[in-house]
Amino acid sequence: MASKSKPPVFESWGRYPKLDVRLEPLFWTDEYPRGTRLPPSVLAVGMGRSYGDVCLLEGGTLLSTLGMDRLLHFETATGLLRCESGVTLDQILRFAVPRGWFLPVTPGTKYVTVGGAIANDVHGKNHHVAGSFGNHVPRFELVRSDGSRAICSADENPEMYHATIGGMGLTGLITWAEVMLRPIASRKIRYTAIKFSGIDDFLAISGSSRSECTMAWIDCISQGRAFARGIYMQGDYSEVMEPKKASPKPRLSVPFDFPSWALNRTSMRIFNELYYRKQLRRQVTGQIDYEPFFYPLDSVLHWNRIYGKRGFLQFQCVIPWRYGRDGILAILETIAESGMASFLAVLKVMGEIPSVGLMSFPQPGITLALDIALKPEVTFPLFERLAEMTRELGGRLYPAKDACMTGQHFRSFYPQWEQFAVYRDPAFTSAFWERVTADA
Ligand SMILES: Cc1cc2nc3c(=O)[nH]c(=O)nc-3n(C[C@H](O)[C@H](O)[C@H](O)COP(=O)(O)OP(=O)(O)OC[C@H]3O[C@@H](n4cnc5c(N)ncnc54)[C@H](O)[C@@H]3O)c2cc1C
Repeated sequence: MASKSKPPVFESWGRYPKLDVRLEPLFWTDEYPRGTRLPPSVLAVGMGRSYGDVCLLEGGTLLSTLGMDRLLHFETATGLLRCESGVTLDQILRFAVPRGWFLPVTPGTKYVTVGGAIANDVHGKNHHVAGSFGNHVPRFELVRSDGSRAICSADENPEMYHATIGGMGLTGLITWAEVMLRPIASRKIRYTAIKFSGIDDFLAISGSSRSECTMAWIDCISQGRAFARGIYMQGDYSEVMEPKKASPKPRLSVPFDFPSWALNRTSMRIFNELYYRKQLRRQVTGQIDYEPFFYPLDSVLHWNRIYGKRGFLQFQCVIPWRYGRDGILAILETIAESGMASFLAVLKVMGEIPSVGLMSFPQPGITLALDIALKPEVTFPLFERLAEMTRELGGRLYPAKDACMTGQHFRSFYPQWEQFAVYRDPAFTSAFWERVTADA
């Protein structure tokens, strides 16, 4: 008997929630809505690198854009690239780096699509000098469920342009986009890694840094004098000209789901201790390739399996400057007291450049992002407490990383949501949107 072919699996990066999804692959920019059977509700998706449910939809159809993966045009004089929305940042780097160009902004993984980067208006290590991804996207095409197609830019259909950047895929399908690349002389980064002993030390180092790219790993398990210690990393593109080669493919992969006991407070404490101590001197400088600098996690494929089948949640908040220091400390203390631990905690200062997206996450202040294994009885109450603290501190959470904020919290973080809802395509929705607007 012929075995039944399995339906395609589509999960978000945190592997929670697990929803039954129907995936419809798109290969051509004119395929939707003409070539589809017009399901009642749809959502365009890319690589599923969002952590929670912003890229999920139950009972509808996910329009997978990965087949729309063509580079369309490149202006060598200016660095303006036009490509289909399913092109990944990895593909762009493979094309651009050997020609002396780089992404204007990149998140901590290159395995995301241009459509996904626009829809979440992603930010990177250079937010304080470059803003977020949408600041470098002059134009794109948006297709709505009624079949209409519109070019969106700051001058043409500006309302739809601002609503779609950071619009979580809810305004329609982006078919192609233009991205302004930046020139580089070399694929190397001149970097400095500086150990810091606590949040004040972090702020002092960060305040005196003049580097284009900055972020810090922070130890959120150790207590006492080691509390909130970490390693600050800063880097600039090297100006030394050198042949620009393409990157090798990653060789390491996590082949199976780790058992849930493998990641516990003790194993994470050991990891944090070793990570902090691997750098012997307070300050280390050198030159490294952009791959380990921007994408250290991409060197291990499927690393999300180390959290086991149940998956994990990410918490990412930004706290404005007026409460930044004390707010971040209070949040770190609350996490430490909960008994939950994270070995991937990142701290970064966000700059003043306004995002062009109506619903974009970035705002000036300090952002903290950390992964926590899913143990429903502990993790959900903790995340609710952290969301409430974020609200009290005048901050907000990042929908691209979220799987459990309440509708009330979402609407207080993004009071402009009703203004945004006017631009939502009636056929486009997501599990995230349904969740945070259900009780509105
Ligand atoms: C290891 C890791 C590190 C990360 N680091 C960062 C970081 O530093 N900064 C940051 O900002 N984010 C970061 N992220 C999150 C990630 O960059 C975003 O979630 C990104 O949007 C994922 O893109 P994707 O192609 O996987 O899109 P998906 O996750 O598949 O979808 C994301 C959103 O985009 C919409 N969308 C996708 N394609 C289209 C389209 N063609 N038209 C309309 N809407 C579309 C979807 O509906 C959904 O709302 C990280 C994620 C991982 C796994």
